[in-house]
Amino acid sequence: MKSRKNKTSTTHKLDRRKFLAVSGAVCASGAVGILVPGAGAAVPHGLPPLPYPDNALEPVITARTISFHYGKHHKAYVDNLNRLAAGTEYAELPLERVVVATAGKPDKTAIFNNAAQVWNHTFYWQSLRANGGGEPPRALKERIEASFGSFEECKKKLSEAAVSQFGSGWAWLVLDGDKLGVVKSANAETPLTTRQKPLLTIDVWEHAYYLDYQNRRADYVNAVLDKLVNWEFALQNLSR
Ligand code: MN
Repeated sequence: MKSRKNKTSTTHKLDRRKFLAVSGAVCASGAVGILVPGAGAAVPHGLPPLPYPDNALEPVITARTISFHYGKHHKAYVDNLNRLAAGTEYAELPLERVVVATAGKPDKTAIFNNAAQVWNHTFYWQSLRANGGGEPPRALKERIEASFGSFEECKKKLSEAAVSQFGSGWAWLVLDGDKLGVVKSANAETPLTTRQKPLLTIDVWEHAYYLDYQNRRADYVNAVLDKLVNWEFALQNLSR
């Protein structure tokens, strides 16, 4: 997928169309998800459109990375989930119910992994935005300060979790009871299956950064935190 420097609304539409052509499927409009679009929709599960053009996150995350990460990896999880769930007791369940129903069941690992990865990635794309980073909205910043002591400490905890996750996984800002916290998860594991409510996430699988940063995961993580993280999305999730 070619990068476009011209960010007009027309360009955006063209990019969307390209993504739809790549995905071959879109979540039904009007579908009700709890935290991500399409998550409440019935099967077959769709690949929700990216909330921005493929070059919107440059230079931190390039359109080339997005073309593989979204167009190949995320799409493959959707396709695998639909294939694996067909004809099973999970075939008619919305995405979030599939994730919760298969979690911790050793004989359902493949369905869980793909369903959770579909959900995690849709949540990740929304956790980022062009011109993100910076200071969180006041309402969120107050909650962060009450839980971490300072906003800087919260960012530091997120960075440490993301950098220290051994192998593939995710770093999350979560609501745990009435406090905010930071957790990390391995592979497809997601706070969706716990009592914690996910507020935002950073993907630290190598496919998220290797084309742009190679082995320098910390550089990717810190650039995301400084320039892309969507604090407004975290605040929205807090009040959902
Ligand atoms: Mn990923």
